[in-house]
Amino acid sequence: MAPRVAIIGSGFGGLCMAIQLERAGIRSYTVFEKAGELGGTWRDNSYPGAGCDIPSQLYSYSFEKYTSWTRRYPEQPEILGYLQHCADKYHVRERIRFGTEVRRAVFDGTHWQVSTAGDGATESFDVLVMGAGQLNRPRLPDIPGMAEFEGVSFHSARWDHGHDLTGRRVAVIGNGSSAAQLIPRVAERAEHLYVFQRTPNWVIPKPDATFAPLTRLVLRFVPGLRRAYREWIYRYAESTLYPALSQGWSTGLLRKRALGHLRDQVPDPKLRARLTPDYPPGCKRVVIDSGFYPALSRPDVSLVTDKIVRITPKGVETTEGPYKVDTIVYATGFQSTEFLAPMEVVGREGRTLERQWAGGAEAYLGISVPGFPNMFLLYGPNTNLGHNSIVFMIECQVRHIMACLPRLAAGGPIEVRPEAMAAWRERLDAAMARMVWGAGCQSWYKTASGRVTNNWPGPTTLYRRLTARPPRSAYRVAGPR
Ligand code: NAP
Repeated sequence: MAPRVAIIGSGFGGLCMAIQLERAGIRSYTVFEKAGELGGTWRDNSYPGAGCDIPSQLYSYSFEKYTSWTRRYPEQPEILGYLQHCADKYHVRERIRFGTEVRRAVFDGTHWQVSTAGDGATESFDVLVMGAGQLNRPRLPDIPGMAEFEGVSFHSARWDHGHDLTGRRVAVIGNGSSAAQLIPRVAERAEHLYVFQRTPNWVIPKPDATFAPLTRLVLRFVPGLRRAYREWIYRYAESTLYPALSQGWSTGLLRKRALGHLRDQVPDPKLRARLTPDYPPGCKRVVIDSGFYPALSRPDVSLVTDKIVRITPKGVETTEGPYKVDTIVYATGFQSTEFLAPMEVVGREGRTLERQWAGGAEAYLGISVPGFPNMFLLYGPNTNLGHNSIVFMIECQVRHIMACLPRLAAGGPIEVRPEAMAAWRERLDAAMARMVWGAGCQSWYKTASGRVTNNWPGPTTLYRRLTARPPRSAYRVAGPR
């Protein structure tokens, strides 16, 4: 009998899992989605200028031969449209339970009991797949006075589309990838824009280009061309960007490229100095954008680097004085290291994931957790990338989970052995030592204690190899049910 599978989340991860189950003829699954539409991060992040800085020919499923992208780096509506297209094409949408938030999942010895918010209904499943991702809960900063602000304020991932920025004085707090994309658009409308930067980021150009209808036709009909283009982008990222993050041959090249971009786009040497990071490139996520620096050079945009002291009813107060604004945009990132929170996940013998992960989240291959049988994670701990497409990683994880299912059907619950987890941790620690993320910078990749819980410290080719087949030595399968 086909296993009953609960999938939590309908972003790139949850949809991929559902589609592969459909393709395998397994229709006994339910996707739980707390929002009213699918798309995960591509539904939530609708700020002006939102898009992906990885070309969509690669930032898309390998099995879906999609040739409708209108540009190399499409914006959010097109990416969301792509996910909706996939959900409809593979008949996944009818199995998504919208507006249904999973609050609690408890393993009762053989099954997962999944409880949802609202009526608190509980349903039983054989398998639990977590597709909530790493960047789904906005992080608002803890600045005194935020509640007293009399203007309009919101987080970049909760954009207030009813609020017209035309002619307003706007503050954007933060200058990461989200801020870099929205700042040029906000600058076009605002009377004046203040960008509050705590730490400068390394920025490299985004060589965007439109795909004319003829190009799209060629990509569609010339045999092998789309696949070759995708493969080329993948190989390029793997062979040039990955070595920069692992402090290999291209480290200097990345720095040179970023400094060159800064020099080309920011003529004012004083502004350039304030935008130059003092930590190695890649330690924080490198911003890939060609509109951010020109926006900062506009006369109606000011870069503020003084420390923010408090938010007042009228604006933002820094150590150097007050900035009166009508609107504050918090582009302050996400609660990235608290995987799966606030959901309560209870495994074997009543152990909670929250307690098990008190020292930082971890999972074997980023997928399986000892003590939590038949539970699998997508885009879990140590599987984020700073150099390539996360969709590639998700597909590796889904392949791995699909390969676990027949073992589960043959026996009882499948669970990763603690020894396999310990060996995996050792391997990660050794690999992590050569990565640039440990250098002197703060980032969303690590916990407050400095442990990198989010990123994969190897080439993605290695990850694909390691996840291809669930090793018998790593997993324990209980006897036949
Ligand atoms: P982020 O990279 O975590 O950036 C948050 C920003 O807010 C940082 O500049 C941070 O400064 C600042 N900040 C936080 N708290 C602050 C405070 N109390 N006072 C002043 N500044 C504060 O978040 P994000 O820009 O939303 O991006 C998160 C990730 O999403 C990215 O790294 C990327 O992986 C992904 N993303 C991808 C794309 C894409 O095109 N693929 C686009 C957007 C986002 P510090 O640096 O000093 O901490």
